[in-house]
Amino acid sequence: MEEDASKDAATSDALSELARLWRRYEGDPDSALPAITETAVAALRVERASIWLMDEGHGVLRCIDLYEATPGRHTRGTVLRAADYPQYFAALAAEEPIAASDAMTDPRTAEFGPGYLAPLGIGAMLDAPIRLGLGLVGVVCHEHVGAARVWTRAEEKDGAFLASLASLALELSQRARREALLTATLESTGEGILAADEKRVVAFNRRLLDMWGIDRTQIASLALVQDHMASLTLGPSELIAAANEIFAGDLETIDILELRDGRVLERCSRPQVLRDEVVGRVWSFRDVTSQRRSEQALRASEARMRDLAIRDGLTGLFNRRHLLEQLQDLVSRGERLAVAIIDLDHFKRVNDEHGHVVGDAVLRDFAKVVTDRLRASDMIGRYGGEEFALVLRGTGAVQARAVIEGIRRGLAEREPVGGVVRYTFSAGVAELGVDAIEPMALIARADERLYEAKHAGRDRTV
Ligand code: GH3
Ligand code: MG
Ligand code: MG
Repeated sequence: MEEDASKDAATSDALSELARLWRRYEGDPDSALPAITETAVAALRVERASIWLMDEGHGVLRCIDLYEATPGRHTRGTVLRAADYPQYFAALAAEEPIAASDAMTDPRTAEFGPGYLAPLGIGAMLDAPIRLGLGLVGVVCHEHVGAARVWTRAEEKDGAFLASLASLALELSQRARREALLTATLESTGEGILAADEKRVVAFNRRLLDMWGIDRTQIASLALVQDHMASLTLGPSELIAAANEIFAGDLETIDILELRDGRVLERCSRPQVLRDEVVGRVWSFRDVTSQRRSEQALRASEARMRDLAIRDGLTGLFNRRHLLEQLQDLVSRGERLAVAIIDLDHFKRVNDEHGHVVGDAVLRDFAKVVTDRLRASDMIGRYGGEEFALVLRGTGAVQARAVIEGIRRGLAEREPVGGVVRYTFSAGVAELGVDAIEPMALIARADERLYEAKHAGRDRTV
């Protein structure tokens, strides 16, 4: 009687100790399994206790922890196959405890006899199936070394209790694994990810912290994170604010954030939906800086190519071909316009007296003087060496001549180019519909008048 009482006390001590420590295993479910086998050994006073996992097809049991009292040792890895131990697997499938007082003769465990029970000296086994969800997932085995041993109802109950703890530990460890997998997924993407409800950040990855230079003390508060992001973003902190407004909605938005340090981030903002309810938003940030740069470089080189095709390299004015195309276009649309052909006077002398480099400077100077005085709708092109063609829209010959005289005055009032060169020009004007109805004929007419101007003494418009 006395022995029984102390035995019961030891059992309940071991179990209550495990229950007391259980909280610790919730955070570290893998360490719960060895604690369960050690408790089993102490509570049921057996030499060996082990936890086995069943595969999904119920054909294989794999030992995930065996504790042996005498050496005080944990091992694992033994595999049992249903094909080798059909009676035992059938008994387990019934999901009832297997209390084999005489393991060598009990039909459920006898098949372990010669190969397992005899060499280890096991006389009795108490096995409690582990259930998880709806099914059998494994078994907790208690093996008594020595003679046959009658298992009490209380011991069977304790075995079942230990099996239910094992089930809990397995579930916790599955959940921890799922969470670890989710975290690994979150960390394996190249995007910076932030999930938040209205006030708090609920998930994030390292990439987000690195991308934004956020430290872990800031990440707790969504407001801090947003302030930080706004402080790094160029211009539109409204963008961040705007994102707040739509925070509650189920809109999906994509915007581009330009950062002060030159990086460009694309932000995709999506609602986070849990059981059909929007519970927050997920922002994912992608660094599109290099993509942006190459797009910009491509656009710039396209623009350069277009420019090369239509502009004169020395003056930056339209080239002859482009100017003629534009003129053709305006004429075919029936616009009112005048053309002027301008030729610099005695330009050969400029080159001869000051050199070609100064000659080039004069050409660029003239291009600038004219460009500065033209309306946006007018056009000027370099028509030849020191000849220019103007297309003045919505203008007749009289007005066109007035414009050109304005240019002439402007030119006379300026400082000489390079401090020495003063230059003049002669011009001939023709009006569409009055002097000609065809672009080339119109230009020819203006050219004739230019020569009249030259013959009349230069520095004038005809
Ligand atoms: P006119 O008053 O009769 O027009 O006399 P001009 O000397 O200007 O006439 P001409 O057509 O005989 O000479 C034009 C000169 O313009 C000849 C050429 O060397 C020079 N020229 C043409 N293109 C360029 C250029 O791109 N750069 C420089 N520096 N000179 C040029
Ligand atoms: Mg000339
Ligand atoms: Mg000339």
